[in-house]
Amino acid sequence: MFSPQDLEFDRRHIWHPYTSMINPLPVYPVVRSEGVYLEIADGRRLVDGMSSWWCAQHGYNHPELVAAAKRQLDTMPHVMFGGITHEPAIRLCNSLRGFLPQSLECIFLADSGSVAVEVSLKMALQYWHAKGDPRTKFLTLERGYHGDTFGAMSVCDPKNSMHSLYSRFLPEHIFVAAPKSRFDGEWLADDIEAFQTALETHRHEIAAVILEPVVQGAGGMRIYHPEYLRQVRTLCDQYGILLILDEIATGFGRTGKMFACEHADISPDIICIGKALTGGMMTLSATAVTRKVAETVCSGEAGVFMHGPTFMGNPLACAVAEANMRILARNEWQAQVSAIEAHFRDTLMPLRNLENVADVRVVGAIGVVETRRPVDMAAMQAFFVKQGVWIRPFGRLVYLMPPYIVDAEQLRQLTDAVAVAVADTTLFAVS
Ligand SMILES: *Cc1c(COP(=O)(O)O)cnc(C)c1O
Repeated sequence: MFSPQDLEFDRRHIWHPYTSMINPLPVYPVVRSEGVYLEIADGRRLVDGMSSWWCAQHGYNHPELVAAAKRQLDTMPHVMFGGITHEPAIRLCNSLRGFLPQSLECIFLADSGSVAVEVSLKMALQYWHAKGDPRTKFLTLERGYHGDTFGAMSVCDPKNSMHSLYSRFLPEHIFVAAPKSRFDGEWLADDIEAFQTALETHRHEIAAVILEPVVQGAGGMRIYHPEYLRQVRTLCDQYGILLILDEIATGFGRTGKMFACEHADISPDIICIGKALTGGMMTLSATAVTRKVAETVCSGEAGVFMHGPTFMGNPLACAVAEANMRILARNEWQAQVSAIEAHFRDTLMPLRNLENVADVRVVGAIGVVETRRPVDMAAMQAFFVKQGVWIRPFGRLVYLMPPYIVDAEQLRQLTDAVAVAVADTTLFAVS
């Protein structure tokens, strides 16, 4: 099915994520997916440890999601959302209301995580504009990641997202050091100081605080103490500043709670969701806000919220997402995620003692091994494929976030492969 010419065509003509067009890293041709397996062209079946970047939470080709897509495909794959509504969108938003913090009543559907973030930032700007107090700054954390479009990128970690490259295009926002208190460690009271000082200093300029609750994902896979979030919420309330939580990676059970903000028992004014929303079948995202935010946004000069993607509310994606909400409502995910977490604690935590390992972090169905030196991505990737697993490390991070349906034997395969890889100095970049 795959010829060397196909791969050569790919190398020559197709960009891959964060990859060079001059000297791209190798790509593996995948021909089929099923449950926790990805099948590559030579017939090998790999246990997936990535859920395709947080998305495929119930594994691939889930029969209920596939059936929902087929049903919707036959009735109405897509129709514009301007002046039209449809059952898939209504049913999805209705089920989402059951899962989201209660106060987040008004839902804007969009097509990707980055767009959901753009929407949240624009809403915050319109909110302040409507109040007659226009503000242009966002306060956020170093090591954060919120997407690749310009607005989203402007609140990503300045080093990781190379702000210097885009300097005159990117608005400058306010960054404070990420919290140091570990999720499962003691709360260090001075952790909030930098945030508090920045908020107080810039309280008349800041439209909103935006951060990833509990887990900072692509910016470093850091996992921090929920007390930080509680104090952020209190401070935002004290100064009347909006709180945007980006739950695009953490949402839908990944951290052991439906949404990571539940670890801190708080709710934001604006939430962004995406990734696992459709169970990994296709792209869809949403930004949900309180009625107060929605009404303020629409009370201003524009009278409306100024955004409306072409594929907004795509019925196919909504139907699949709604089927995903029904799977989640059965609550099997909770026991599945706890079992994965227990296994990660048993098998990954001891790796802390290895010479190559700087730190190990676990929460819910996320296991992270931070190494001392950057990995040799191509070599380590090839090693994992040889071990029959799909794990994609980056920088100094080897991490697992498997589909929740992974069984004990498959989990063992994943963690064994990580244990061997991080002990093998030949799989690291030469310094
Ligand atoms: C992946 C991600 C995004 C961007 O989502 P895309 O669908 O890739 O645009 C934004 N925020 C967080 C926390 C993410 O993990």
